[in-house]
Amino acid sequence: MSCLVFSLPFKEGDAALGNGGLARLSACQMDSLATLDFPAWGYGLRYQYGLFRQIIVDGFQHEQPDYWLNFGNPWEIERVQVSYAVKFYGTVEEEVSNGSNYKVWIPGETVEAVAYDNPIPGYGTRNAINLRLWAAKPSGQYDLESYNTGDYINAVVNRQKAEIISNVLYPDDRSYQGKELRLKQQYFFVSASIQDIIRRFKDVHDNFDEFTEKIALQINDTHPSLAIIEVMRVLFDEEHLGWDKAWDIVCKIFSFTTHTVQPEGLEKIPVDLMGSLLPRHLQIIYDINYKFMEELKKKFGQDYSRHARMSIVEEGAVKSIRMANLSIVCCHKVNGVSRVHFELLKTRVFKDFYDLWPLKFQYKTNGVTQRRWIVVSNPSLCAVISKWLGTEAWVRNIDLLAGLRDYASDADLQQEWRMVKKINKMRLAEYIETLSGVKVSLDAMFDVQIKRIHEYKRQLLNVLGIIHRYDCIKSMNESDRRKVVPRVCIIGGKAAPGYEIAKKIIKLCHAVAEKVNNDPGVGDLLKLIFIPDYNVSVAELVIPGSDLSQHVSTAGHEASGTGSMKFLMNGCLLLATADGSTVEIIEEIGADNMFLLGARVSEVPALRDQGASVRVPLQFVRVVRMVRDGYFGFKDYFESLCDTVENGKDFYLLGADFASYLEAQAAADLAFVNQEKWTRMSILSTSGSGRFSSDRTIEEYAEQTWGIEPCKCPF
Ligand SMILES: *Cc1c(COP(=O)(O)O)cnc(C)c1O
Repeated sequence: MSCLVFSLPFKEGDAALGNGGLARLSACQMDSLATLDFPAWGYGLRYQYGLFRQIIVDGFQHEQPDYWLNFGNPWEIERVQVSYAVKFYGTVEEEVSNGSNYKVWIPGETVEAVAYDNPIPGYGTRNAINLRLWAAKPSGQYDLESYNTGDYINAVVNRQKAEIISNVLYPDDRSYQGKELRLKQQYFFVSASIQDIIRRFKDVHDNFDEFTEKIALQINDTHPSLAIIEVMRVLFDEEHLGWDKAWDIVCKIFSFTTHTVQPEGLEKIPVDLMGSLLPRHLQIIYDINYKFMEELKKKFGQDYSRHARMSIVEEGAVKSIRMANLSIVCCHKVNGVSRVHFELLKTRVFKDFYDLWPLKFQYKTNGVTQRRWIVVSNPSLCAVISKWLGTEAWVRNIDLLAGLRDYASDADLQQEWRMVKKINKMRLAEYIETLSGVKVSLDAMFDVQIKRIHEYKRQLLNVLGIIHRYDCIKSMNESDRRKVVPRVCIIGGKAAPGYEIAKKIIKLCHAVAEKVNNDPGVGDLLKLIFIPDYNVSVAELVIPGSDLSQHVSTAGHEASGTGSMKFLMNGCLLLATADGSTVEIIEEIGADNMFLLGARVSEVPALRDQGASVRVPLQFVRVVRMVRDGYFGFKDYFESLCDTVENGKDFYLLGADFASYLEAQAAADLAFVNQEKWTRMSILSTSGSGRFSSDRTIEEYAEQTWGIEPCKCPF
């Protein structure tokens, strides 16, 4: 098999311009928009440094800068002529024009945004769409004063600082620190994009009458929500449309997708920061909030606590702007990303807003593109699917995958299916050996958990389960050992650089791996591999080679999850909690075809209320004790990690779900022994994955949110 000698199946690094699921979702959606012939544009930032590269030294994560543009980027087209001035700081003054008063923003700093276009071709169509990314450059306008004072060197150096804005991506997913540079990035992105959209509209229209028919803007989480205020500012202050007309336009063009499940996770910007960086925007936000509060008073009278909860401005020690409230007030639709998420939005996160505007709220279950996650990443599976369906049409029409269901028990398909898995496992095994020197058995079950490291995603539950398995194997007699299903446990994911507990989980993976992989008494029965630098390219290699994949978030914490969908398409069985989109996956493929575990969304609050008296199995106490006692070394270092799951502090309910987790793992072992049964479940997973194509998500957005139709390329 010399043709399979390891080499990474790519020649260039990822454009890692996002953090994890949220940005990868946009990438899948862009592919679907192009393929389905929608006339769409994507906007973003052209960071010089994408998400950090993770390297592991002695089992600890270290971050290295990802200077991905070092050797150029052949896929982008620099548009030096498409550039806009973006303003910051300064003051707001009044101006009289045609007998009316207008606000004029006199900026204190101006930075140039230059467009870099990244064409995204659709599959099997002539349509291509554009991803326009903005880079910050020093403004063409010189501050003559600083040049005339003679400090030439400092003047040049200061100008150069403008580029800092698009230098580096913030590496924390789902936490906001209210940092000035982050807000600058957000506004830089938004201002350039809105100027571009309005300029492109004005190129063909003399007035704004058709603006709301031609333009629909989808806000992907609250990060770009200042776009709403920016459109309001341009139409009101610069185009002089009048408040009511401008407001009417804003409310018709914007819709908002939220990815949050925890009210504490919502983005807030300190008022002082907003007022200094974007003085005019703060005024407009206050004006919108004033009118909104008046509306609330009419509707709910003197219910002041409700007003305080719903207000765009949060009073308190640090007065701040609630970006989600702002988005809900101004957008015509608020989208959740799965049905469970939608229920949480209605009953918990945005309950007050749902009571006020029930029709604004919808959900569009996320999806991933089969073009990347099957066709590109798993060509062998792609060939088998096309052969058995007798067509390649499923690449554009995913519903056809359901046709595989009829052959799920066919011995010939089953054999080809297993062969594909074997080839992909071989590729993955070679990668693992090159990486870690560990040889893994292809007969073992490859059990994978790859995603950002988070307490709520519960990689720790997985590691504790592995410790339990190790402990069991150690105490077995020879005849029991022969019955053990060998496992290769694979974990991968990045921790945000400041997220201490997540970093300790990574270290624990390595400490346990060190012990387990070098224990001659265990051999091939159990291996633990941490794959460093998890990113899209690594996912493309690992997912096709997995037998089982874990999605075990504490129920009610994963808004959707999209990793599970990629595994499902590749015929990997899921070991999962009934959270996020998994609830809908269960409906599509049936609970018998996966391994479900843990408390449900509705059961979590009661379990949490029990605190220290929640029932925890002895096995859990034992494995945590092993870590505490220094069985894997680093006793002091792991103490605070163990403290997060014991003594009434187990917020994510690892202890409460542990027994159920072990049962699900045992069920997976049992199923794996019966290869006909396992292969059937695998085929049924792929054939039931159609609903989780981003093509379906995008079609729903087009019809229900944007009101747009495909626009076939005329040539
Ligand atoms: C799909 C994907 C994610 C999201 O995975 P979840 O399991 O939904 O958290 C994160 N990172 C990368 C690189 C991905 O491809």
